[in-house]
Amino acid sequence: MTAASSAPRQLFVTTALPYANGPFHIGHIMEYIQADIWVRFMRLRGHEVHFVCADDAHGAPIMIAAEKAGVTPQDFVANIASGRKAYLDGFHISFDNWHSTDGPENHFLSQEIYRRLRAKGLIATRTIDQFYDPVKNMFLPDRYIKGECPKCGAQDQYGDACEVCSAVYAPTELKKPYSTLTGATPVMKSSEHYFFKLSDPQCVEFLRAWALDAERLQPEVANKAREWLEGDSGLGDWDISRDAPYFGIEIPDAPGKYFYVWLDAPIGYLASLKNYFARTGRDFDAFLADPSTEQYHFIGKDITYFHTLFWPAMLKFADFKVPNNVFVHGFITVSGEKMSKSRGTGISPLRYLDIGMNPEWLRYYIAAKLNARVEDVDFNPDDFIARVNSDLIGKYINIASRAAGFITKKFDGKLSMAWATQDDRFLSQLRGAADDIAALYEAREYGKALRSIMELADHVNAYVDANKPWELAKDPANNARTQEVCSRLLEAFRILTLYLKPVLPTLAEQVESLLNIAPLQWGDVYNALPDQHIVQAYAHLMTRVEPKMLDDLFEPPAAPAEENAAMAVDTVGAIEAIDAEIKIDDFMKIDLRIAHIVDCAHVEGSDKLLRLTLDVGEGRLRNVFSGIKSAYQPEQLKGKLTVMVANLAPRKMKFGISEGMVLAASAKDEKAEPGLYILEPWPGAKPGMRIR
Ligand SMILES: [Zn+2]
Repeated sequence: MTAASSAPRQLFVTTALPYANGPFHIGHIMEYIQADIWVRFMRLRGHEVHFVCADDAHGAPIMIAAEKAGVTPQDFVANIASGRKAYLDGFHISFDNWHSTDGPENHFLSQEIYRRLRAKGLIATRTIDQFYDPVKNMFLPDRYIKGECPKCGAQDQYGDACEVCSAVYAPTELKKPYSTLTGATPVMKSSEHYFFKLSDPQCVEFLRAWALDAERLQPEVANKAREWLEGDSGLGDWDISRDAPYFGIEIPDAPGKYFYVWLDAPIGYLASLKNYFARTGRDFDAFLADPSTEQYHFIGKDITYFHTLFWPAMLKFADFKVPNNVFVHGFITVSGEKMSKSRGTGISPLRYLDIGMNPEWLRYYIAAKLNARVEDVDFNPDDFIARVNSDLIGKYINIASRAAGFITKKFDGKLSMAWATQDDRFLSQLRGAADDIAALYEAREYGKALRSIMELADHVNAYVDANKPWELAKDPANNARTQEVCSRLLEAFRILTLYLKPVLPTLAEQVESLLNIAPLQWGDVYNALPDQHIVQAYAHLMTRVEPKMLDDLFEPPAAPAEENAAMAVDTVGAIEAIDAEIKIDDFMKIDLRIAHIVDCAHVEGSDKLLRLTLDVGEGRLRNVFSGIKSAYQPEQLKGKLTVMVANLAPRKMKFGISEGMVLAASAKDEKAEPGLYILEPWPGAKPGMRIR
């Protein structure tokens, strides 16, 4: 491809919508960086790009989290949304719009798409049996049902699979099932559900043509799609309804029924675009109806199914534009392992910024690791330091720092560029890579693009070593030569900066200001700095990573700022006054231990107490009565670890002797804010460990 052949295109680009139940994690930021580099590259090429995203606001988990926090789901989501900007600005993500799937545009579009699918005969209803919580009066999603594994008998297993023996089953097969919301035993209840008829022959035919087009999906994604489309079971119809109470969008002509969150979430891409176009006076319908408009979605591998089957089929049969492509990436790992907060290998994006790490280091590092395949990206601290310090700073930034000083000091900032003719070999070499690098960016082969750019930087550094400007500058007789050598280096630096601009947008701005030039566009690779052009005095462009920063990054944070932001809605209304100060010796008199709840039972004749059988590793079991019956069912506590006061004098109670006390949290005003919460240690704690 050449610069001449790239006529302006119009693109609509999205990243996956983050679920609005918590702050961004590093996986979100990686995806945004990947998409942002692509978008910025396309813009540098002169294309019109509309890059949008939104909070995925609906569904049972948010409804339940909001209820726990004592706020409306709308307020809960708004609180999460208010925290987004710090991350997006912090990592220079250039979205044109950030919206919410609970916005009016999404209600309208979801209902409109549904009506069109129904008019095509692609909606069916069917009665299904499902677990129902008789206390909460709601149907229970699988994740809110627990019970004993039907295979191995392990307790507290989720409704779909056992974490102990890995057996997979239906929630109805669990023994002693209970609702994790209320502890109640769920009952079977039938309900009418709405289905999108994905198994309809016209859907299957369309998806085969779309997903198996050899020009479209990444090979490993196409293989997955082939398994789904051509496997023995074929495509099943998709259950798109949920019963009230549900935080979502009402299904037209179906009282008490809501769209399943996964139906309206991707429509949120369109809703965000519609909202953005309305704000900026553009025509949403005309843009999508224009056959030359291209539509791309960046997503993680875990949501491929939704984006390569449901989403294109919904759009196709609702007469909307079908995506040109879906770009799938892998997950981020740390030193080869899945990230884990409890192992101290989690990377908090806000902490990264808070400790003063440069966001463009991370953009560069992630870009260097990314390719067009669905591979996990590994964050390795030593590799991070090496790539930033040796490549980015050692090879690239140093070119400017070695040349600009002499131009300022000896030549009043003036360049000597008479040498920069079409057939200059030095320039040709740098310019000659432009089309290859452009093709690599467009194909999302960022790692290869950066390798090519660093090879060019090696050539430029070889020129530095061969010409030694610091030696030349010692003798005024060499002035003309010194000025030319340093001017060549600054022109080379200009071209390398242009090549790196999609990855390092703010650094590129600093360089444009240093070189005293207009914002670089891709075609500017051929527009050398003019002769006698005056550049600004050199100011430091980028510092090195200090290894200490990586230690700080991984130090398990006691109370990460971002989690506080998310939990802000959760703070108790009025707290009890803090007690009078004590000395550490006073505290050490209380012997707190990790206790294993070996057994737990109701106490006959008591409506407040549960009887706990606790093991704190001392070779005997203890009997403890605890007034937590209002908050827990015995089967919820059996097998768990908690915290107990182990040296409290035994106390004779009506029902027997209590040999200690378990700890529980409650609000000052239990009437206004009911609820009792016992403590549970982080994984790894063992019965008998002392808390100090
Ligand atoms: Zn099991």
